Amino acid sequence: MQYPEPIAKLIDSYLKLPGIGEKTATRLAFFTIDMEQSEVVAFSKALVAAKKDLSYCSICGNITENDPCVICADKTRDQSQVIVVEQVKDVMALEKMQEYRGLYHVLHGVLSPIEGKGPEDINITSLLRRLQQNSQIKEVILATNATPEGEATAMYISKLIKPANIMTTRLAHGLAVGSDIEYADEMTLYNAVKNRQEI
Ligand SMILES: [Zn+2]
Repeated sequence: MQYPEPIAKLIDSYLKLPGIGEKTATRLAFFTIDMEQSEVVAFSKALVAAKKDLSYCSICGNITENDPCVICADKTRDQSQVIVVEQVKDVMALEKMQEYRGLYHVLHGVLSPIEGKGPEDINITSLLRRLQQNSQIKEVILATNATPEGEATAMYISKLIKPANIMTTRLAHGLAVGSDIEYADEMTLYNAVKNRQEI
């Protein structure tokens, strides 16, 4: 027996989400059908609004309702430091620690020869342009994850920045090898930033 088209379409939509297989997609689709009408409407509105009202900051690549984002727009923040991270979620993790008052740059990925991801596929050009145009930046803190790809990306960027005479540092090894910034607790992150080392 085939599912009626509206259910089949809903299952297809859930299948597009990461980590969701056929079984889970089917379960979610039937769960949705059993939800209150008002809940379903609120859910669908939240989906549309998140897509419509959010964009990426033209300066740092962070996700934002307004361009530039609140962090880039906040002139009381330390304009001399930029932390480079892989994804938006890492900005949130570092902000939660409430110790860092500098700026960010989101790469939206890492270099990965296996996945065919080169420098032009991540937000590196905009970082270099930013460093060229903004002489206030004195230090770039490379906070890519402690994975082989994260390390290789940090090395690549540090080599590009070196000639510009800007200090380049890497988070200290409080982070376990292979670990992701977004899952690190606040104290570990605090120590990793505080004990960062020049590379
Ligand atoms: Zn920004």
